[in-house]
Amino acid sequence: MSINSAPDTRVSRPAYWTETVAVLRQRFTVAMAIFVFFMGVGTIFEVTSFPERKHFALVVYGIEGVTAILGAAACWLPRLRRWSVSIAVIVAVTITACISAYHACVAAPAERVATVLGCVLNLLSVLLPWGWPAQMLTALGAVGSFGVALPHLPTSDAIAIPMTVLLAAATTSVFGAFFLDRYRFEAFRRTALQTEEAEIAAGLAHIGETLSRLLGEANLLEEVNRLAAEALGCDWSTLFLFDERRNAYRMCSNVGSPPQVQNELAEIEFPTDSLPLLQALKVGELIEIADVADQTLVPVDVMRRMAVSSALYAPVARGTQIIGVLCNGFVERVGPFSSRHRRLTLGIAHATAIALENRRLIADLQGANRLKSEFVATMSHELRTPLNVIMGYTEMLVDQEFDPQDPSWGDALTKIQSHSLELLELVSATLDMGRLEAGYASVSWTPVDVHRLFTDLGREVAALARPGVEVAWRNDVGSVPVVSDATKLKTVLKNLVGNALKFTSAGTVEIHAERTDGAVRFTVRDTGIGIAPENLELIFEMFRQVDSSLTRQYGGVGLGLHIAQRLVELLGGTISVTSTPGVGSVFTIDLPIRVMTEAGRNAHAAMRSAQ
Ligand code: ADP
Repeated sequence: MSINSAPDTRVSRPAYWTETVAVLRQRFTVAMAIFVFFMGVGTIFEVTSFPERKHFALVVYGIEGVTAILGAAACWLPRLRRWSVSIAVIVAVTITACISAYHACVAAPAERVATVLGCVLNLLSVLLPWGWPAQMLTALGAVGSFGVALPHLPTSDAIAIPMTVLLAAATTSVFGAFFLDRYRFEAFRRTALQTEEAEIAAGLAHIGETLSRLLGEANLLEEVNRLAAEALGCDWSTLFLFDERRNAYRMCSNVGSPPQVQNELAEIEFPTDSLPLLQALKVGELIEIADVADQTLVPVDVMRRMAVSSALYAPVARGTQIIGVLCNGFVERVGPFSSRHRRLTLGIAHATAIALENRRLIADLQGANRLKSEFVATMSHELRTPLNVIMGYTEMLVDQEFDPQDPSWGDALTKIQSHSLELLELVSATLDMGRLEAGYASVSWTPVDVHRLFTDLGREVAALARPGVEVAWRNDVGSVPVVSDATKLKTVLKNLVGNALKFTSAGTVEIHAERTDGAVRFTVRDTGIGIAPENLELIFEMFRQVDSSLTRQYGGVGLGLHIAQRLVELLGGTISVTSTPGVGSVFTIDLPIRVMTEAGRNAHAAMRSAQ
């Protein structure tokens, strides 16, 4: 098992060797053709110059030629191909031995033999990409056969001279073979890396293209797995996504695993602390399990059950946050993954993260668009309803349909007043929202008397309570003022109490203030209709209502809770809700206790006395 993010730059020696042997076969054939040709030319000159050596020269040339041709042909035979280097060495050593033997027999000058052998060695080292060991064996063979023949070779010079010449040629040929091999390997490595790079880039571009084409499609994530399995040539590919609410990973798509494994995976949830593997995940880093039997990141029996023999895990991340894991792997194959596997897996995980992010943004935009349309419809409805009532009653008053002495006159005026108030609140909420959105809402910290706050609020919301609903205000904070922004705190509480009264037709609405550990807590508890668990988070979103149909029973535009949440955040606090449908809801605000500085207290006192 290993954790790795760096691309692997190793290029396998076996691949290089396979390619080298293929080149060697061709070059060896060419070298042997050149050898046979020039040996032939040499033999003709030999026979012409020394007719008495004719038969012997032809026999030796025949042996050399047949050896060269048979050797070159053997390298092409399918069964002998992998022995091409050994065959070439045997042929080369045989030829050099023949050359030494012939010259010893005809007592040719040692200088000539050394020159011929030197030429052959350099021909081989330049043409054959067989590496320095093969060249060294051939050079040793040549020098050895020359050494054996030397006593029979006359020389006009010191005997050491031709020997030195041959040794120099042999040494040069070995070094030449060494450097040429190194150069060739470097070139092979560079080409292999460039090819791999180009293939990976093309593969990832194709995957990116496909994913953006399928962005709106339901099968997007399955396509990720299909493309991953195809690009990597692995047996299966699975994508797990992180569910923040449950703090666990769940499989969302898989291709290639047996159906029973897919069914089982679909049922399982992997909490982050359930597997060491999930805790080891780091953004941008791969986790490789080369052999499930040899790792501790996931229990071996779980891996076997999931038909996994080896696997590669790449986190799918949004910024620094891991939102999923892409896993690719095999059912039976074990062993390390190649750099290509690793780079592709990381690249696909990255493309998946982008696709998921784009999909989320599109969904958000579509949602915002839908909400805006709903808002326009709701706003028109909410504005028109009280306006219609106000206009209807004022028309009746203008037409003097009411007798000023009659109680219905007062009723009409009360209705006009309450609907005007409703309109005012609606417009105020919309303006508050606009201010918050524009970032103009600044906090002015002042001492707030909770008792006075409750009394003011009680007066303002009294008209909203339905008959049969008891409103209870409990202040356990006492008379010590709380440091907060009085207007914002009042807006928040008014929204919560207004909602509680709106959605409660019988029972109690209780507003409670208390000091807790380091915070001032306000609780608004009602016995109203309650909120279903799946809507508890949504109701804080802008323009969100549990029932947003135009035929709904309760008024409102879905801004109150959003404004409340934004204001509580501005005050440095938190807002939360618990609720049971049909039983009631509890909204809780925790505001950190603030201590007012001397200067702040003085400024506030000065303002109060100036009022
Ligand atoms: P509005 O009340 O104007 O519709 P809010 O943002 O204040 O908008 O509330 C959003 C939604 O949350 C409401 O439409 C309602 O569905 C739900 N809600 C808020 N408070 C309560 C509550 N006390 N009881 C039941 N549902 C509530």
